Amino acid sequence: MKIICVGRNYADHAKELNNDVPKEPVFFMKPKNALMLPGKPMYYPEFTNDLHYECELVVRICKNGKYVGEKFAHKYYDAYTIGIDFTARDLQREQQQKGLPWEIAKAFDQSALTGEWLPIDESVNIQDISFSLLKNGETVQSGNSSNMIFSVNKIIAYVSKFITMNIGDLIFTGTPAGVGPVLPDDELVGLIGDRKIFDVLIK
Ligand code: MG
Repeated sequence: MKIICVGRNYADHAKELNNDVPKEPVFFMKPKNALMLPGKPMYYPEFTNDLHYECELVVRICKNGKYVGEKFAHKYYDAYTIGIDFTARDLQREQQQKGLPWEIAKAFDQSALTGEWLPIDESVNIQDISFSLLKNGETVQSGNSSNMIFSVNKIIAYVSKFITMNIGDLIFTGTPAGVGPVLPDDELVGLIGDRKIFDVLIK
């Protein structure tokens, strides 16, 4: 199982980090060890002084595929949730300045939180999901997947040209604007519409 994460998939977020809007999806991966299950606290890693949340729509792959056509990509995922792509922003900036890979900033243990999974049936339009993140009760991010630069189907078509999709893989589809730091004792609550999908404490 692997975790594929798309970066810069909302124009407003690319702008807030002074990045160009990409012409093709930009993706990176987190290992299985990065997965944090709901109900567990997030322990603030000792190697960063600037841990950021990035709340994102996540889909779960249900079918193996390579070179998946965009038209057929909707058959390759059957559940969705929202999660957090935890990022050591200070390390990410250092790595980017040196032109080095991001793994130490993005792929560390517990860096991928996922919430409660919801099934995708005909009533769900994956490109019209409203979600938000509350920090200590205050809304810090709110987005709708209609504002993605690259749709879920486009992401699957693109990524599967390079890497085979396998059952159980997760795709973090990018974060809208509003990313910011967390500190120990902060509580993060993720919502899809009005429904609470996760609730995590930073320790
Ligand atoms: Mg992200």
